[in-house]
Amino acid sequence: SDLQSQPADPTVDTSRMKVSEEVAIEIRNMHKWYGEFHVLKNINLTVHKGERIVICGPSGSGKSTLIRCINRLEQHQKGDIVVSGVELTDDIKNIAEIRREVGMVFQHFNLFPHLTVLDNCTLAPIWVRKMPKREAEEAAMEYLRRVRIPEQANKFPGQLSGGQQQRVAIARSLCMNPEIMLFDEPTSALDPEMISEVLDTMVSLAESGMTMLCVTHEMGFARKVANRVIFMDGGEIIEENDPESFFNNPQSDRTKLFLSQIL
Ligand code: ADP
Ligand code: MG
Repeated sequence: SDLQSQPADPTVDTSRMKVSEEVAIEIRNMHKWYGEFHVLKNINLTVHKGERIVICGPSGSGKSTLIRCINRLEQHQKGDIVVSGVELTDDIKNIAEIRREVGMVFQHFNLFPHLTVLDNCTLAPIWVRKMPKREAEEAAMEYLRRVRIPEQANKFPGQLSGGQQQRVAIARSLCMNPEIMLFDEPTSALDPEMISEVLDTMVSLAESGMTMLCVTHEMGFARKVANRVIFMDGGEIIEENDPESFFNNPQSDRTKLFLSQIL
Protein backbone atom coordinates (compact mmCIF):
# COMPACT_ATOMS: atom_id res chain seq x y z
CA SER A 1 0.00 0.00 0.00
CA ASP A 2 0.99 3.67 -0.15
CA LEU A 3 1.60 3.67 3.58
CA GLN A 4 4.27 1.03 3.23
CA SER A 5 6.13 2.63 0.36
CA GLN A 6 9.74 3.28 1.26
CA PRO A 7 12.08 5.93 -0.06
CA ALA A 8 14.57 4.80 -2.65
CA ASP A 9 17.52 6.93 -1.47
CA PRO A 10 20.44 4.50 -1.11
CA THR A 11 22.02 6.61 1.68
CA VAL A 12 19.04 5.98 3.96
CA ASP A 13 18.85 2.77 5.95
CA THR A 14 15.18 1.80 5.69
CA SER A 15 15.53 -1.55 7.45
CA ARG A 16 13.86 -0.34 10.67
CA MET A 17 11.50 2.14 9.02
CA LYS A 18 8.47 -0.13 9.28
CA VAL A 19 4.93 1.15 9.38
CA SER A 20 2.94 -0.84 11.91
CA GLU A 21 -0.79 -1.63 11.96
CA GLU A 22 -0.86 0.04 15.36
CA VAL A 23 -2.28 3.54 15.45
CA ALA A 24 -0.14 6.22 17.09
CA ILE A 25 -2.38 9.25 16.49
CA GLU A 26 -6.02 9.35 15.41
CA ILE A 27 -7.65 12.68 14.57
CA ARG A 28 -11.34 12.61 13.63
CA ASN A 29 -13.49 15.46 12.35
CA MET A 30 -11.41 17.91 14.33
CA HIS A 31 -12.04 21.65 14.31
CA LYS A 32 -10.37 24.53 16.07
CA TRP A 33 -11.19 28.20 16.33
CA TYR A 34 -9.12 31.09 17.61
CA GLY A 35 -12.02 33.22 18.84
CA GLU A 36 -14.16 33.69 15.73
CA PHE A 37 -11.46 32.50 13.36
CA HIS A 38 -11.96 28.93 12.12
CA VAL A 39 -8.32 27.86 11.92
CA LEU A 40 -8.64 24.07 11.50
CA LYS A 41 -11.53 22.67 9.49
CA ASN A 42 -12.56 19.04 9.75
CA ILE A 43 -9.13 17.48 10.09
CA ASN A 44 -9.01 13.70 9.66
CA LEU A 45 -5.65 12.04 10.05
CA THR A 46 -4.53 8.59 11.15
CA VAL A 47 -0.85 8.14 11.91
CA HIS A 48 0.42 4.59 12.30
CA LYS A 49 3.39 3.69 14.46
CA GLY A 50 6.59 4.08 12.48
CA GLU A 51 5.18 6.58 9.96
CA ARG A 52 7.25 9.59 8.95
CA ILE A 53 4.88 12.30 7.84
CA VAL A 54 5.87 15.65 6.41
CA ILE A 55 3.31 18.47 6.64
CA CYS A 56 3.76 21.41 4.32
CA GLY A 57 1.69 24.34 3.12
CA PRO A 58 1.71 28.12 2.94
CA SER A 59 2.36 30.28 5.97
CA GLY A 60 -0.81 30.65 8.04
CA SER A 61 -2.39 27.44 6.77
CA GLY A 62 -2.64 25.96 10.28
CA LYS A 63 0.32 23.55 10.32
CA SER A 64 1.68 24.68 13.69
CA THR A 65 -1.78 24.80 15.20
CA LEU A 66 -2.45 21.23 14.05
CA ILE A 67 0.66 19.75 15.59
CA ARG A 68 0.31 21.87 18.73
CA CYS A 69 -3.18 20.39 19.19
CA ILE A 70 -1.63 16.91 19.31
CA ASN A 71 0.12 17.61 22.60
CA ARG A 72 -2.42 20.11 23.85
CA LEU A 73 -0.31 23.22 23.51
CA GLU A 74 -3.50 24.32 21.74
CA GLN A 75 -6.98 23.06 22.47
CA HIS A 76 -9.40 21.86 19.80
CA GLN A 77 -13.11 22.55 20.16
CA LYS A 78 -14.73 19.82 18.08
CA GLY A 79 -13.93 16.24 17.07
CA ASP A 80 -11.51 13.75 18.61
CA ILE A 81 -7.77 13.42 19.03
CA VAL A 82 -6.45 10.11 20.37
CA VAL A 83 -2.72 9.76 20.99
CA SER A 84 -1.18 6.39 21.93
CA GLY A 85 -4.66 5.19 22.83
CA VAL A 86 -5.38 8.11 25.16
CA GLU A 87 -8.15 10.53 24.18
CA LEU A 88 -7.29 14.18 24.58
CA THR A 89 -9.85 15.66 26.93
CA ASP A 90 -9.74 18.36 29.57
CA ASP A 91 -8.61 15.72 32.05
CA ILE A 92 -5.22 16.92 33.21
CA LYS A 93 -4.06 13.33 33.76
CA ASN A 94 -4.63 12.51 30.09
CA ILE A 95 -2.73 15.59 29.04
CA ALA A 96 0.23 14.64 31.24
CA GLU A 97 0.14 11.09 29.88
CA ILE A 98 0.15 12.29 26.28
CA ARG A 99 2.97 14.77 26.87
CA ARG A 100 5.07 11.91 28.21
CA GLU A 101 4.61 10.04 24.91
CA VAL A 102 5.09 13.00 22.59
CA GLY A 103 8.32 14.94 22.16
CA MET A 104 8.31 18.27 20.38
CA VAL A 105 11.03 20.31 18.70
CA PHE A 106 10.30 23.92 17.76
CA GLN A 107 11.69 26.42 15.30
CA HIS A 108 13.29 28.33 18.19
CA PHE A 109 15.06 25.78 20.25
CA ASN A 110 13.53 26.80 23.60
CA LEU A 111 16.50 25.57 25.62
CA PHE A 112 16.92 26.91 29.15
CA PRO A 113 19.73 29.46 28.73
CA HIS A 114 20.93 29.29 32.35
CA LEU A 115 21.33 25.49 32.32
CA THR A 116 24.15 23.52 30.70
CA VAL A 117 23.42 21.27 27.76
CA LEU A 118 23.52 18.24 30.06
CA ASP A 119 21.22 19.86 32.63
CA ASN A 120 18.78 20.84 29.87
CA CYS A 121 18.65 17.16 28.94
CA THR A 122 18.28 15.75 32.44
CA LEU A 123 15.82 18.27 33.90
CA ALA A 124 12.59 16.56 32.79
CA PRO A 125 13.79 12.98 33.29
CA ILE A 126 14.79 13.84 36.88
CA TRP A 127 11.81 16.01 37.83
CA VAL A 128 9.02 14.49 35.72
CA ARG A 129 10.17 10.89 35.38
CA LYS A 130 11.82 10.82 38.86
CA MET A 131 14.90 9.25 37.33
CA PRO A 132 18.05 9.13 39.53
CA LYS A 133 20.45 11.91 38.48
CA ARG A 134 23.27 9.55 37.58
CA GLU A 135 21.03 7.43 35.36
CA ALA A 136 19.52 10.53 33.71
CA GLU A 137 23.01 11.85 32.94
CA GLU A 138 24.14 8.56 31.43
CA ALA A 139 21.06 8.44 29.23
CA ALA A 140 21.52 12.10 28.24
CA MET A 141 25.15 11.49 27.25
CA GLU A 142 24.01 8.59 25.09
CA TYR A 143 21.54 10.84 23.24
CA LEU A 144 24.12 13.63 22.94
CA ARG A 145 26.41 11.08 21.30
CA ARG A 146 23.57 10.14 18.95
CA VAL A 147 23.21 13.75 17.83
CA ARG A 148 27.02 13.93 17.73
CA ILE A 149 27.73 16.65 20.30
CA PRO A 150 28.74 14.84 23.50
CA GLU A 151 31.70 17.21 23.84
CA GLN A 152 29.32 20.15 24.33
CA ALA A 153 27.63 18.65 27.41
CA ASN A 154 28.98 21.16 29.90
CA LYS A 155 28.53 24.27 27.80
CA PHE A 156 25.60 26.68 27.96
CA PRO A 157 23.22 27.00 25.00
CA GLY A 158 24.48 30.50 24.19
CA GLN A 159 27.95 29.08 23.55
CA LEU A 160 26.64 26.77 20.80
CA SER A 161 25.77 27.39 17.16
CA GLY A 162 22.11 27.32 16.12
CA GLY A 163 22.51 23.89 14.55
CA GLN A 164 24.12 22.54 17.72
CA GLN A 165 21.37 24.05 19.87
CA GLN A 166 18.72 22.42 17.74
CA ARG A 167 20.50 19.06 18.06
CA VAL A 168 20.49 19.55 21.85
CA ALA A 169 16.75 20.24 21.66
CA ILE A 170 16.30 16.95 19.79
CA ALA A 171 18.44 15.05 22.29
CA ARG A 172 16.54 16.65 25.17
CA SER A 173 13.23 15.43 23.73
CA LEU A 174 14.63 11.94 23.19
CA CYS A 175 15.70 11.77 26.85
CA MET A 176 12.01 11.46 27.75
CA ASN A 177 11.86 8.36 25.59
CA PRO A 178 8.86 9.51 23.53
CA GLU A 179 6.79 7.27 21.25
CA ILE A 180 6.16 10.12 18.83
CA MET A 181 8.22 13.13 17.80
CA LEU A 182 6.67 16.35 16.49
CA PHE A 183 8.82 18.86 14.64
CA ASP A 184 7.67 22.39 13.81
CA GLU A 185 9.96 23.90 11.17
CA PRO A 186 13.09 22.82 13.06
CA THR A 187 15.49 24.21 10.46
CA SER A 188 13.78 27.42 9.40
CA ALA A 189 15.56 29.62 11.95
CA LEU A 190 18.99 28.20 11.05
CA ASP A 191 21.73 29.57 8.84
CA PRO A 192 21.87 27.53 5.62
CA GLU A 193 25.13 25.80 6.50
CA MET A 194 23.57 24.40 9.69
CA ILE A 195 20.43 22.99 8.16
CA SER A 196 21.95 19.72 7.00
CA GLU A 197 23.41 18.80 10.40
CA VAL A 198 19.91 19.02 11.91
CA LEU A 199 18.28 17.20 8.99
CA ASP A 200 20.92 14.45 9.28
CA THR A 201 19.92 13.99 12.90
CA MET A 202 16.27 13.74 11.88
CA VAL A 203 17.13 11.21 9.18
CA SER A 204 18.89 8.99 11.70
CA LEU A 205 15.92 9.32 14.03
CA ALA A 206 13.69 8.14 11.18
CA GLU A 207 16.11 5.27 10.57
CA SER A 208 15.70 4.24 14.21
CA GLY A 209 11.99 3.64 13.58
CA MET A 210 10.59 6.72 15.35
CA THR A 211 7.06 7.88 14.52
CA MET A 212 7.56 11.42 13.24
CA LEU A 213 5.31 14.30 12.24
CA CYS A 214 7.40 17.06 10.73
CA VAL A 215 6.26 20.47 9.58
CA THR A 216 9.00 21.42 7.17
CA HIS A 217 9.61 22.83 3.73
CA GLU A 218 12.78 20.77 3.34
CA MET A 219 11.53 18.73 0.42
CA GLY A 220 14.81 16.82 0.15
CA PHE A 221 14.13 15.51 3.64
CA ALA A 222 10.57 14.65 2.64
CA ARG A 223 11.77 12.68 -0.38
CA LYS A 224 14.40 10.91 1.70
CA VAL A 225 12.44 9.68 4.69
CA ALA A 226 8.75 10.57 4.53
CA ASN A 227 6.29 7.83 3.71
CA ARG A 228 3.52 10.44 3.38
CA VAL A 229 3.40 14.13 2.58
CA ILE A 230 0.42 16.20 3.67
CA PHE A 231 -0.40 19.54 2.11
CA MET A 232 -2.47 22.04 4.10
CA ASP A 233 -4.05 25.28 2.98
CA GLY A 234 -6.65 27.49 4.68
CA GLY A 235 -6.92 25.19 7.70
CA GLU A 236 -7.71 22.08 5.67
CA ILE A 237 -5.80 19.03 4.53
CA ILE A 238 -5.99 19.56 0.77
CA GLU A 239 -3.98 16.60 -0.43
CA GLU A 240 -1.84 13.75 0.85
CA ASN A 241 0.23 11.18 -0.93
CA ASP A 242 3.51 9.29 -0.90
CA PRO A 243 6.39 11.68 -1.71
CA GLU A 244 6.95 10.30 -5.18
CA SER A 245 3.34 10.92 -6.27
CA PHE A 246 3.05 14.13 -4.26
CA PHE A 247 5.99 15.82 -5.97
CA ASN A 248 5.67 14.31 -9.42
CA ASN A 249 1.92 14.31 -9.77
CA PRO A 250 0.24 16.87 -7.47
CA GLN A 251 -3.53 16.83 -7.84
CA SER A 252 -4.94 20.14 -6.67
CA ASP A 253 -4.15 23.53 -8.17
CA ARG A 254 -3.27 24.86 -4.74
CA THR A 255 -0.67 22.11 -4.29
CA LYS A 256 0.77 22.80 -7.75
CA LEU A 257 1.01 26.51 -6.99
CA PHE A 258 2.69 25.86 -3.64
CA LEU A 259 5.22 23.45 -5.13
CA SER A 260 6.01 25.84 -7.95
CA GLN A 261 6.87 28.47 -5.35
CA ILE A 262 9.14 26.37 -3.15
CA LEU A 263 10.86 23.95 -5.52
P1 ADP B 1 1.28 27.89 9.98
O1 ADP B 1 2.04 27.16 11.03
O2 ADP B 1 0.80 27.02 8.87
O3 ADP B 1 2.01 29.09 9.48
P2 ADP B 1 -0.44 28.66 12.18
O4 ADP B 1 -1.03 27.41 12.72
O5 ADP B 1 0.69 29.25 12.94
O6 ADP B 1 -0.06 28.44 10.66
O7 ADP B 1 -1.56 29.78 12.08
C1 ADP B 1 -2.75 29.57 11.37
C2 ADP B 1 -3.59 30.82 11.45
O8 ADP B 1 -4.01 31.03 12.79
C3 ADP B 1 -2.88 32.09 11.02
O9 ADP B 1 -3.79 32.90 10.34
C4 ADP B 1 -2.48 32.72 12.33
O10 ADP B 1 -2.41 34.13 12.20
C5 ADP B 1 -3.60 32.30 13.25
N1 ADP B 1 -3.15 32.14 14.64
C6 ADP B 1 -2.10 31.39 15.05
N2 ADP B 1 -2.00 31.43 16.40
C7 ADP B 1 -3.00 32.21 16.84
C8 ADP B 1 -3.43 32.64 18.13
N3 ADP B 1 -2.82 32.23 19.26
N4 ADP B 1 -4.51 33.45 18.19
C9 ADP B 1 -5.16 33.85 17.07
N5 ADP B 1 -4.81 33.49 15.82
C10 ADP B 1 -3.74 32.68 15.70
MG1 MG C 1 3.98 27.44 11.75
